[in-house]
Amino acid sequence: MRILLIGPQGCGKGTQAKLLASKLGVPHISTGDLLRSATGELRKEIDSYIVAGNLYPDEKMLEVLKKRFGESDCEKGFILDGFPRNLKQAEMLDSITKVDRVIEISISDDEAVRRLSGRVACPSCGAGFNNATMPPKVRGICDKCGGELVQRADDTEEAIRKRLEIYHRETEPILEHYGAVRVNGENDIEEVFEEILKLIGIEP
Ligand code: AMP
Repeated sequence: MRILLIGPQGCGKGTQAKLLASKLGVPHISTGDLLRSATGELRKEIDSYIVAGNLYPDEKMLEVLKKRFGESDCEKGFILDGFPRNLKQAEMLDSITKVDRVIEISISDDEAVRRLSGRVACPSCGAGFNNATMPPKVRGICDKCGGELVQRADDTEEAIRKRLEIYHRETEPILEHYGAVRVNGENDIEEVFEEILKLIGIEP
């Protein structure tokens, strides 16, 4: 099954995508993570967009994604998170694959800012925490490995507001393009997950 999860930053797409991917046995593809996994000169170029809260150019993004779709674990489908982000990307995606379900996870802008400003992660083991909603036991320290937690460079309030503005202007129109169904992302993680499973016809 090929599923798109769409929603503003902080709506819980990544969390729901991981849950869904393990339930369905398909990979979770996050275009943000794909870009952040680049190294060397390419990473420097990518960071010049990401850190400012701007989108990476559509054609280049599509190339990265096409390469990922070509890997064998995508044969049974995928949960795509972070793409498409505008109508042009939606048309590009339609030209390379058929999507089965499109789900919108909605939250208010204020909630998005509250959640993202608190988001921290451990660079050593990859664990994620949120000072607002899921704090580590000791502030700034990873519960799992004791590493020092850091904030993403684009999780400053200024960059968050800019990304939300881009979401409303450029990403929202694709919800109509796909006839997306909406779930309320302000509910608990488990409730949102159950609602999504219901929508795609899977027993919780
Ligand atoms: P995310 O982790 O989804 O919040 O993405 C972080 C950043 O990666 C975004 O602010 C963009 O700079 C870049 N990015 C992620 N997905 C895309 C995409 N589909 N098109 C262009 N840039 C993207």
